[in-house]
Amino acid sequence: MKIHEFQARDLLASAGIPVPSAQMIESVEAAAGAYKAVTAGGGALAVVKAQVHAGGRGKAGFVRLVNSAEEATDAARFMLSNRMVSAQTGPEGIEVKKVLIAAGVDIAHEYYLAITTDRQTRRNVLIASAEGGVEIEEVARRNPDAILKQPIHPLLGLQPFEARNVAFRLGLKGKQVGQAASIMMALERLFRDKDCSLAEINPLILTPASSDQPDGRLLAIDAKFNFDDNGLFRHGDVQALFDPSEENPAELRAHRFDLSYIALDGTIGCLVNGAGLAMSTMDIVKLHGGEPANFLDVGGSASQEAVTEAFRIILSDSRVKGVLVNIFGGIMPCDRIAQGIIAAAGEVGFKVPLVVRLEGTNVEAGRALLESARASIPTLQGAGDLGDAAKRVCAAVG
Ligand code: GDP
Ligand code: MN
Repeated sequence: MKIHEFQARDLLASAGIPVPSAQMIESVEAAAGAYKAVTAGGGALAVVKAQVHAGGRGKAGFVRLVNSAEEATDAARFMLSNRMVSAQTGPEGIEVKKVLIAAGVDIAHEYYLAITTDRQTRRNVLIASAEGGVEIEEVARRNPDAILKQPIHPLLGLQPFEARNVAFRLGLKGKQVGQAASIMMALERLFRDKDCSLAEINPLILTPASSDQPDGRLLAIDAKFNFDDNGLFRHGDVQALFDPSEENPAELRAHRFDLSYIALDGTIGCLVNGAGLAMSTMDIVKLHGGEPANFLDVGGSASQEAVTEAFRIILSDSRVKGVLVNIFGGIMPCDRIAQGIIAAAGEVGFKVPLVVRLEGTNVEAGRALLESARASIPTLQGAGDLGDAAKRVCAAVG
């Protein structure tokens, strides 16, 4: 599960990590008031930031520095009325429904800091770089040595000496070292306490030296958290941060029925049981020149209603020009799938070609059911094996 930046900033603040003050708004009218509130204690600089579950906002023009309430209002209006297209959104972009107005800070340097799981070493890892900011992906590609990694002991957690060592390797000096180390320790504690899969601060910034702060100050000005869905049941506070308006509606519906569904860009709707079979079905569709419209694994124990809902979801996608059902009945009996097809045909109807390949448990009963319902599903074609099924559906879609 993902959360917004404004929620991530609250989490950081609750863990004692310094974050500039900010207010989330959902209308253009609220921008001036929020600007005044966050700049009340300091200078005129503020930053207006789109709140969406995608990064790359800075480069897309959806992070803007402003110096007055009017500029803040203009920036908020721009963000709330234009779709954001970034390297992480795809060409159609995403709608912005929430905007954050934060106190602006002067930046002497931008650092990167994150905790995630390293699957190769099977440990959590602290990742840090002195080349943080909007170019971090480019740094990782061009100059991987600029990315520091500190493995974290699974039982002991991040040790203070390890955090200080990373701080030194980032080139931090004087009071900055202690500040950075306590931020790293707090971030790692949050990661563990909340069952995160990612806890990232980018950038962690150093402010310029001043007379009362000769070493500057470290502040988090952007943060991203992802949570392990399997751990969510023990974190009511995290569940409460879920924002369904940021999720794909079809994926949300599927989730309610415990279906593993991921929307894709193609034209062939696929209904399969088992993740491995679903992957190979998508491969073979592509091999024959088709493009899958989705990944859908109905699993072994899906109910009649879940199977019918799966067809409803596939058929409600206007891009779907054909449907391929590929079932290898093990725990899932073929007749339950056949009943789902018949129910969906009765409710919404298959206006597009439907190719069905059934094999395994109760296959005879499944085929007999489909045969008896043939009149109500005129676009139905049976298929022999998986290759035959993929060829048929690709040919039918054209
Ligand atoms: P992202 O592009 O989605 O990761 O958005 P960020 O919140 O990280 O902002 C992108 C960039 O905008 C940062 O790397 C900074 O260079 C700049 N930025 C953001 N907030 C401030 C601020 O308060 N002051 C200054 N000077 N720059 C900022
Ligand atoms: Mn960022």
